[in-house]
Amino acid sequence: MDRTSTAEAADVIVVGAGIGGLVTATQLAAKGIRVLVLEKYLIPGGSAGFFERAGYRFDVGASMIFGFGDRGTTNLLTRALQAVDESLETIADPVQVHYHLPGWAIAVDRDYETFLSKLGDRFPTEREGIRRFYDECWQVFNSLNAIELLSLEEWRYLVRVFFQNPLACLRLARYLPVNVGDVARRHLRDPELLRFIDIECYIWSVVPAARTPMINAGMVFSDRHYGGINYPRGGVGRIAEALVRGLEKKGGQIRYGAHVSRIVPEKNTVILATGETLTARRIVTNATRWDTFGRLLKADPLPASEIQWQQRYAKSPSFLSIHLGVKAELIPLDLACHHVLLEDWQQMEAEQGTIFVSLPTLLDPDLAPAGHHIVHAFTPSWLSQWQGLTPRAYEQQKELAAARLMTRLEAILPGLHAAIDYQEVGTPRTHRRFLGRTEGTYGPIPRGRIWGLLGMPFNRTAVPNLFCVGDSTFPGQGLNAVAFSGFACAHLVASTLGGARR
Ligand SMILES: Cc1cc2nc3c(=O)[nH]c(=O)nc-3n(C[C@H](O)[C@H](O)[C@H](O)COP(=O)(O)OP(=O)(O)OC[C@H]3O[C@@H](n4cnc5c(N)ncnc54)[C@H](O)[C@@H]3O)c2cc1C
Repeated sequence: MDRTSTAEAADVIVVGAGIGGLVTATQLAAKGIRVLVLEKYLIPGGSAGFFERAGYRFDVGASMIFGFGDRGTTNLLTRALQAVDESLETIADPVQVHYHLPGWAIAVDRDYETFLSKLGDRFPTEREGIRRFYDECWQVFNSLNAIELLSLEEWRYLVRVFFQNPLACLRLARYLPVNVGDVARRHLRDPELLRFIDIECYIWSVVPAARTPMINAGMVFSDRHYGGINYPRGGVGRIAEALVRGLEKKGGQIRYGAHVSRIVPEKNTVILATGETLTARRIVTNATRWDTFGRLLKADPLPASEIQWQQRYAKSPSFLSIHLGVKAELIPLDLACHHVLLEDWQQMEAEQGTIFVSLPTLLDPDLAPAGHHIVHAFTPSWLSQWQGLTPRAYEQQKELAAARLMTRLEAILPGLHAAIDYQEVGTPRTHRRFLGRTEGTYGPIPRGRIWGLLGMPFNRTAVPNLFCVGDSTFPGQGLNAVAFSGFACAHLVASTLGGARR
């Protein structure tokens, strides 16, 4: 059988069904553009996927979900679903995260004033500075939340949005090159409080405040009190499932087990691992930029813009993850869903330093069998720590690392060891294999103190008709951020195809 099709498979092929790829695809389909998504795995979602074992439904990664608010313009998950006539029931999380830090702890309440008051109680001499700092983050958020969020590479949109809201645009332009650390130091003095701002950034940007863009912080530090953190009933995997339903409703297609091994941009073609060849007028890749240019394009030499980006941004570490099913008695019902545990500030950025914990069954008990809860804990870890091992040594290292992690978790979940019903351990090798991400990386981190978000590439690439979407494009990691990237990518691609068909 001739597996080479010269007829176009679609107007646009999207490689990968992560949230970035799916938002691009649904936005294009909603505009009447023919779109085909090729996903190498068996289900959609990528890092926002799920797996089921022994009656538990575990989130692969993400579970602190922004973007499900019901007002403004930054609620991009709500909007992405609405665009394809879909919606999800969500459960409001009263606390974004409970920090357990060296010598003290604080929960970030959904209510802004409660949070400021608690932080002020811990740092009474800094009360005013704390308010000024977080209020400045609100200025960024309010500007973003006043404008339609589409492609900054499309000049007609830029002109339109500027004339609709010049003040918001000017304010955003002013903050684009700014990092959080510089703003924090203008308002705050106490070194312990500045460390707290560092971990406030680190838990989603995986770098301290000095290297975290102010635009992203404006979103995170304000939206948690505005749209709030909302967990989709049935688990995070429901987001991707609903996007796929919407995509198909609008005439788009998705194929699973469709591993793209090569993109040949000069022929507008992708080649699957099976040898099948598919063509389209535009190709969008949701693989990371490192995977796109290093593996799919085999670009040698790399385009200058990609070299420049790789000089500015490094791959962040991956994670060591444990997914546990535990007896319900372990978890008091008034515990927060998300926790961050750090015993020594010097270890914040270290291998297996900061621990992230998520207890999603406190919000949705149906994710576990009756009488049980889910504990998902993960901590940054480099692939290099897990390579060059014999299978036996790898298993032993996994067991040791998981045991160490669980011993530390006893500080917030006393009795954990005795309560375990089911256990699954993932390493950076697992993340690399199942998510198809080079070195299992969480995404790009600035190598040094670069200017805010100015160094992040947008969706267009140096290669004609090839676009990138997802966490290695502006504005970076996180579900709502990659949804933004998806909106922008679809808008740009549609503009190159002459806009919407319907
Ligand atoms: C442990 C962990 C915890 C996290 N916690 C949170 C959180 O609480 N809140 C939050 O907002 N974010 C969180 N994140 C980040 C968030 O999950 C990611 O930033 C986001 O999901 C990335 O989406 P994406 O579309 O860019 O890419 P991905 O999710 O990586 O999706 C890419 C897709 O492309 C497919 N693909 C790749 N290569 C190919 C190929 N060659 N052929 C076909 N298909 C291919 C992959 O299989 C995958 O489905 C977390 C991430 C991790 C790993």
